[in-house]
Amino acid sequence: MGVKRVDAILRLSPPENLIQDFSQENADHSFSFESISLLQSILEQEYGPRGGRGLALRIGRACFKYGLREYGSMLGLTEMAFRLLSLPVKLHIGAKTFADLFNKHTDQRVRVEEKDNKIFWHIERCPLCWERKTEESICHLAVGLLQESLYWLSGGKIFNVEEIACIAKGDAVCTIVIDQTPLS
Ligand SMILES: [Zn+2]
Repeated sequence: MGVKRVDAILRLSPPENLIQDFSQENADHSFSFESISLLQSILEQEYGPRGGRGLALRIGRACFKYGLREYGSMLGLTEMAFRLLSLPVKLHIGAKTFADLFNKHTDQRVRVEEKDNKIFWHIERCPLCWERKTEESICHLAVGLLQESLYWLSGGKIFNVEEIACIAKGDAVCTIVIDQTPLS
């Protein structure tokens, strides 16, 4: 987004939320569910639903790159033995490992279900739409994050990734469906 735009976004939030989370004093680099949800809603306000969605997808994709740098070797995802596995096995292990990362290191709760050649990524406790009420699914950051992880995992293939249920819409969980067969 660039420093100027980030700065503008931070100014739109109540000071006790985003600015504090972004500050140098935030030693454990923690972000509250409120801040993450707020960030998404400010993006929608500022750039419209479509523009906000596009930005959130891009932020999600960028998050994967930084996350991989930080957690990739710990999770064993960057090791040669993993990289040599077949794509279906990599998707199976990758989804489970990735879900474990969220479940162990954040308050987000993820459950993975595999059915009909699809992976269902159920976010049972979701920071992205935390305390929001909307007409449409809004957890775009998670969609972007999964898109990028699949792209990386498959060595450059594109997969269909879609959020089909969202707590903000009144669903019990946020569910993102991944087609295990790539589009390209
Ligand atoms: Zn959600």
